Amino acid sequence: MAPEAEPRTLRAHASDNVAVVVNPGGLPAGAILASGLELREAVPEAHKLALADLAAGDAIVRYGVVIGYANRAIPRGSWVHEGLMTLPAPPELAACPLATNVPAPLPALEGYAFEGFRNADGTVGTKNLLGISTTVQCVAATVEYAVKRIQAELLPRYANVDDVVAITHPYGCGVAIDAPGAAIPIRTLRNLSLNPNFGGEILLVSLGCEKLQPVRLIPAGALPVLEEAPSVAVMQEAQHGFGEIVANILALAEKKLKKLNERKRVSCPAADLVVGLQCGGSDALSGVTANPAVGFAADLLVRAGATVMFSEVTEVRDAAHLVTARAATPRIASEFLHEMAWYDEYLRAGGADRAANPTPGNVKGGLANVVEKAMGSIAKAGSTALMGVAAAGERVRQKGLVFAATPASDFICGTLQLAAGMNLHIFTTGRGTPYGLAVAPVIKVSTNSGLAARWHDLIDIDAGRIATGEATVEAVGWEILSLVLDVASGRKKAWADHWGLHNEFVLFNPGPVT
Ligand code: CA
Repeated sequence: MAPEAEPRTLRAHASDNVAVVVNPGGLPAGAILASGLELREAVPEAHKLALADLAAGDAIVRYGVVIGYANRAIPRGSWVHEGLMTLPAPPELAACPLATNVPAPLPALEGYAFEGFRNADGTVGTKNLLGISTTVQCVAATVEYAVKRIQAELLPRYANVDDVVAITHPYGCGVAIDAPGAAIPIRTLRNLSLNPNFGGEILLVSLGCEKLQPVRLIPAGALPVLEEAPSVAVMQEAQHGFGEIVANILALAEKKLKKLNERKRVSCPAADLVVGLQCGGSDALSGVTANPAVGFAADLLVRAGATVMFSEVTEVRDAAHLVTARAATPRIASEFLHEMAWYDEYLRAGGADRAANPTPGNVKGGLANVVEKAMGSIAKAGSTALMGVAAAGERVRQKGLVFAATPASDFICGTLQLAAGMNLHIFTTGRGTPYGLAVAPVIKVSTNSGLAARWHDLIDIDAGRIATGEATVEAVGWEILSLVLDVASGRKKAWADHWGLHNEFVLFNPGPVT
């Protein structure tokens, strides 16, 4: 066998009784590992093999935690796939330890800066965008029409403004607007319009008769100090047809463009970054390559004073006891548990549980179940103390590592992180997704080099080099930090922005429709 074809496996923790195959294309039956272990059957790339003989009922251990129980005897050298495992019970929320293992602060990292757009409320933009908010889906097509006209006729005259974004969505009418669940989509839309990349200039388009009235979406006094009240265009007030409606939106847009055009990039400390972390299309390498590298970068950002958000409730639920232990205070741990309990109930009411999370692609990529997915996912959050918790759609105000509660759904998580104030997104993927957001740059990190090679013009950083031994977790973490500062400064473009790949805003609406 040629040296490059030598069987390679990765064990995440010394107590693990499974390891993950990293050879591209997997390993055949009969392959012999450096330890002398012979494979009894073929094991696909990123899938697990048994390092020891397991009896029925034995714990299957990866990342040093039980990810499942063998449902039959599994001899060493076998492929350990989802069909051979039963799911362990999730950690009991009431038994989770509160702030019992708070990490000591890491040494501060000085001197890291980026060129950003400073806002009146102290936040900093990484893009200079005109956002056009909408109260209701009825106006979405009109606003999208107006945006095309603005881009063609007005934007070329305002060179400092990057683009115009229509914040359109399916919400706003035909919904139980006073139901408890309605608070989430409403505050999400409000806080989206306050994203730092919109520069505090709010232009709102309303139909007129919808349930979500402009004053409900953006009530006076509910906002941080804005230089002036939001500009509102109400379609049903127009007397002279569609032409007047569009002209009205264009006139308000031009007023905002003039002000946004005065924004200039200035040097800002890395502490002004609000970085959202997410994964999508994960595989079994996510937890040993891309997510730990992002976790190392998260620690660097926290050391530089930035805010780093992790999210995706169903992917941290099985690691809840580990998160609560590292909360900075018992109160923060309790807030985290409150979000877990809320989501448990949300899933229960929908007749589901966290086992609904993994996708067919996750399973094909070697992730047997949600516990294995969660233990890999949580690596993104690095090693620092949890400093705050935000409920779905709320703005994040703390520095350091923060949990922003969101579903794991890529576009809903991205939308909610934008509402939380995110100005840059880091996204890890093993299976591959072209995901991007219009409002904030998305840096995509692949878990395996095969994906990075196939999608060389979609993936920004290849963390698969960690599996092949070409790079360390730390080296890739530093690379991520460096790219974050370049992209936040507008010096480099992430591939999603290069191609203009921007997914839609997708609201989380746990409330009833009528
Ligand atoms: Ca996701």
